[in-house]
Parts: sequence; structure tokens; C-alpha cells
Amino acid sequence: MQVFDQHIYDIVEKGLQGNGLTEEETLALYRVEASSKEAAYIRWAGQELSMQAANGTAEIHAQIGLNSTICPMNCKFCSFASCNTVRKGKYELPKEDVLEYAKIYMEEGANLLLMLTTASYSFNKLVDMVGSVREVIPADMPLLVNTADMNLAQCKELKAAGANGAYHAVRMREGVDTDIPVENRMQTFANMREAGLSLSTCVEPVGPENTPEELTEATMRCISTNPVSAGVGKRITVPGTLLEDRGMLTDIVNANMVAVYRLATGRDLRLNCSANTVMTAAAGANLAWAEVGTNPRDTVERTEHGGRGGNIKQLRKMFAASDWKVLEGPSTGWML
Ligand code: SF4
Repeated sequence: MQVFDQHIYDIVEKGLQGNGLTEEETLALYRVEASSKEAAYIRWAGQELSMQAANGTAEIHAQIGLNSTICPMNCKFCSFASCNTVRKGKYELPKEDVLEYAKIYMEEGANLLLMLTTASYSFNKLVDMVGSVREVIPADMPLLVNTADMNLAQCKELKAAGANGAYHAVRMREGVDTDIPVENRMQTFANMREAGLSLSTCVEPVGPENTPEELTEATMRCISTNPVSAGVGKRITVPGTLLEDRGMLTDIVNANMVAVYRLATGRDLRLNCSANTVMTAAAGANLAWAEVGTNPRDTVERTEHGGRGGNIKQLRKMFAASDWKVLEGPSTGWML
């Protein structure tokens, strides 16, 4: 019988202390085969540490996609990208629908609300939407945006309108599989910080082609941005996109990565994403996303109408199946 790798065991034990790992240690864990006994230990440890970090409590964040207008940034994995042939022309959700979605999410118990747009969405419209949504949700409910790169003035404007933060990420192979320079992403992180907007980020969208070295680099970068939530999310294959033929990670491989992220970042991060399956939610992921409206990982007009968007009820069941309680009320830690 093959002997358990002592070096990996030692790294995991160090990770379990909750103070994070070095780049070299993180790389060693990303190199472990997903089907090995060491990987099973990594997944157990990821869950153990996340349970401690969040006191056994998971969260469901709710996303409203505002538009699917063709986007010039050409991210090859995205259904909105103009380089793909998935979407056509301009499509935006009316404001009354957005407000209705926001109210429904509050009734259903979402812990945070986020509005997603393409880079082609009018910034002024987004500011107006933030202000209007802020009026129909509780004052202590975190409100985030996921939009294009932002300058300092734009960050301040969003903050003044009622936003608490943004989801923003340097995506895998940014600048190669997208038309966005990494520096623009980094500048937005800095602008957000200066304007007082909190950050939600992730190592994503990860595909089978991404190496342990790439994952390690992205993990260290995420950790250095001091986010309120982060983790690892796999790329969802969207038919008709230029990356379709690269395929998709299995849930077990994604679960390993989620656990490695947790061990690498330590106990201070309360929210580890992405709990997209029971498998990842049992390996340390305690943040899941419910989705309505437009969705870059989908091809239908509104993802809740026969698309892939998960709802809060389904996500509660997933967390129950992996032994997590779900937080009641607004997520904390976003009000800078
Ligand atoms: S991922 Fe965002 S920036 Fe990239 S093409 Fe899609 S909507 Fe545009």
C-alpha cells in the first residue's frame, strides 16, 4: 500500500493552525492528485478550518443580472462577449423588475445582494439602480456591484449611492483569454479600497488547462487584496463560446482547490467560495450564489427561467446536506 506523503501531511497540519501557507506550500497542495488519499485529507482539513472560521455558518448571496448587451471586453468564456456568438444586440432588465427581484430576495432570506452588469452597461444607470435598490432593502443589507473596471471617482459615486462593495477579480489568463489588462483590475482594487468599497473576489474561472502554478499565483494575489470573501470557482462551459472545447473541472477537483484556498488563506477569511455543489460545500466552501436575471454562464434571457441559476431554497438544501447552518439576516463585514 502506498505510504501517506509526510510532506503534504505536514503542510496540511500547518494550514489547520489557521495562519495561512507560503506560496511554496500552497503550490505543493495544488499539485496533489484529486483522487489520492492526501487529497481526501486536504478536503477534510479545508472543511474543518472553514467550519471554525465561520462558526459552522454558511451564506447565500443573491445576484441580479441587469443586462446581457453584447460586451466588447471579449472574455472568451462569457456568453455576453462579442467574440462569442451566443447573445445578440441589447437587452436590459426594466427597473421595476430589478426592484421586484430585490424585494423577493429579501423575503427569501438572502444575506447580501449584488447587481451584475456587462462592461457595456451605462455607469450612470448603474448608479441610479444602486440608489433605487438601496431604498427597498434594509440599511444593513450589503449591496454590491459586479461591473467593469472603475476609476476612483466612479467608486466614490457608487459608494455615495449606497453600494458597500463590489465583486471584482483578475480572471485566469486575464489579458490572454480576455481583452482586459491585469493592471486595470489591480487599479480597480486600489480605487475601491480608497473609496471605502469592500471586495469580494475569487480565483476564477478555473478550467482543466490551468496549472498548479497559475492557481498558486492567483491565490496569492487574491489573498493580498484582503477580501471579505474569496475562494476558487470553476469555469462553467457555455455552448458556443470560444473556450467550450477546453472542458470543465469535475466537482471533486474543484472541491480540492476550494480546500487548498482555505488552508492557504487561513482562519481570518470567514467566507470561502464557491459552494456550487455539495462536494465543494463539504470541502470548505461556505458561500453560494443564487442568480436571477441575465447570467454570463447561461444562454437564456433570464437564468431563473429554465437556465442554470440556483435559487435560495435549493442552496439551503445543499448547505444542509453538507452540515452547514445558513446565516439569518445580513452578512457582516462589508461596511467599511
Ligand atoms: S466577463 Fe464581463 S467584461 Fe468579460 S465579456 Fe463578459 S460581461 Fe464583458
